[in-house]
Amino acid sequence: MSIFQDYTRLRHRMVDSQLVPRGIRDERVLEAMRKVQRHLFVGEALRSRAYDDNALPIGESQTISQPYMVALMTELLELKGTEKVLEIGTGSGYQAAVLAELCDKVYTIERIKSLGMRARTILDELGYFNVAVKIFDGTYGWRENAPFDGIIVTAGAPEIPQSLLDQLAVGGRLIIPVGSRGTQELAKVVRTETGFETTTSIGCVFVPLLGAYGWKDNG
Ligand code: SAM
Repeated sequence: MSIFQDYTRLRHRMVDSQLVPRGIRDERVLEAMRKVQRHLFVGEALRSRAYDDNALPIGESQTISQPYMVALMTELLELKGTEKVLEIGTGSGYQAAVLAELCDKVYTIERIKSLGMRARTILDELGYFNVAVKIFDGTYGWRENAPFDGIIVTAGAPEIPQSLLDQLAVGGRLIIPVGSRGTQELAKVVRTETGFETTTSIGCVFVPLLGAYGWKDNG
């Protein structure tokens, strides 16, 4: 069996054993998780563990999120295929690739240059040309391309940045882990004609969202 076939098998097993039993139901999300080659977004030494049920280090003290968390946050965005989505925290580029399978255009922002550049390279190699990557403090959002139908923050925030709420389209969804530096709850904010409706789901542990409207770098 070739390496490629082996990773395909591991990826299908990840979906069947980690995502479906925990309640991920959106068939388009499950299909994207079966398709995107997660092992190519981690260093070679970690490839054999790429489909394990946990986050993995990607350098610079950052992580590629657990597959279940990627699937859950993506499902909460309720993507149909036509949307414009903003991601804060490009990291490895994996979440951006999953989003790119499910919407029209992805804008993703990473504050660490080496990570953003590596993500750009792999996204190009895999043909994800509907993803724009910017190196910047993502807590400001990406005003020139707002409003967004979906915003996903893949780092833990002390509170929901007003800057991101301002850039959410009416009817749009913002998914963001909010809480302390150590633990957060996953919040979903829906913008309505008259305001914002917020619900929270599971507890989670993300690296901190650092920046002007996040945690301070030294904190
Ligand atoms: N979505 C990523 C993936 O698929 O690999 C995982 C993201 S990792 C858990 C969180 C990322 O958020 C880190 O790469 C970190 O540098 C980045 N980050 C933290 N604060 C940020 C900010 N203000 N703007 C942009 N990126 C930020």
